[in-house]
Amino acid sequence: MDPPIPSQAERSDPSTANEAFKLLSDETRLEILQVLWEAHDPVDGTSIRFAELRERVGVEDPGRLNYHLNKLMDTFVRRTEDGYELMDSGKRIVRMLLSGTAIDDPEIEPVAVDISCWYCGGQPEWSYWEGWRYLECTNCEARCVESFPPGVISKTEFPPSGLRGRTPNEINEADRIWGTHRRASVMDGVCPECAGEMPITSVDICEDHQPDWNEYQFCENCGSIFWMLVSHVCEGCKYRWRMPTLFYPSRHPAVVAFYYEHGIEFDLATYEQRAYLLDFEEELLSEDPLRIRISIPLEGDVLGLTYDDRMEVVDVNRGG
Ligand SMILES: [Zn+2]
Ligand SMILES: [Zn+2]
Ligand SMILES: [Zn+2]
Repeated sequence: MDPPIPSQAERSDPSTANEAFKLLSDETRLEILQVLWEAHDPVDGTSIRFAELRERVGVEDPGRLNYHLNKLMDTFVRRTEDGYELMDSGKRIVRMLLSGTAIDDPEIEPVAVDISCWYCGGQPEWSYWEGWRYLECTNCEARCVESFPPGVISKTEFPPSGLRGRTPNEINEADRIWGTHRRASVMDGVCPECAGEMPITSVDICEDHQPDWNEYQFCENCGSIFWMLVSHVCEGCKYRWRMPTLFYPSRHPAVVAFYYEHGIEFDLATYEQRAYLLDFEEELLSEDPLRIRISIPLEGDVLGLTYDDRMEVVDVNRGG
């Protein structure tokens, strides 16, 4: 059997991140990466010869270009028979810079989008600032989390690169799809940021859960509309994602089949079906071992799923 690859923590040498930053803290080197990126063809791969690279980077002295190129060599850039090209690590750096996460700071004023508020049916407005997109209902004060401003029914990170060339409705749609896949990856224990291990670190259950369903929605004791929240933390990059236990049944085949029998193509990814979540009922069957039952009522029928502390389904049953 192959020995396991050392974990990030075991491997991580503080000098590695420092080295990467040092390597990139030079304009000529960034320029080299940029030129190689522009030449890069995702299908064929395209190398650039030294002379052309020098011309495109705009460095007179070949010795100087060579010096900087050598610094990047075997970390971000490699030599081929036809010249130089970006390694995957180099592509990742340029992609990160292009996604604008670190540099741009676009803002988009609130604009109405073609969906309705899943709490009240009112008209939400979409807006974007500081790398986050907001959906704010113009009709109610609902918010699923205390830390959201009143009326903000959804708030999520979205990279500025996803805004380019899209209308607000198109961005809203792209954001929904992007977020759904990332959430699914987290539920499967794989970090959407770095592909590292992302296990469940806690299942938090409010001891006195009383969400205010008529007004602002969240519970004053735990600050959330949801009684039980699952946290995942990436062992490699510390990326954290917290989501309600109620999201887990959405991907189970029994749940999809249950809705299908009732003539509904269940897809929690759509905003229209978010309201279904609010009908799910939770029950804490036991704390040790942890057993949570989530019941889904539909037209007089009930489907129940029981989960353990790793949010694995341990039982599925039909009927009350
Ligand atoms: Zn509303
Ligand atoms: Zn609570
Ligand atoms: Zn990660």
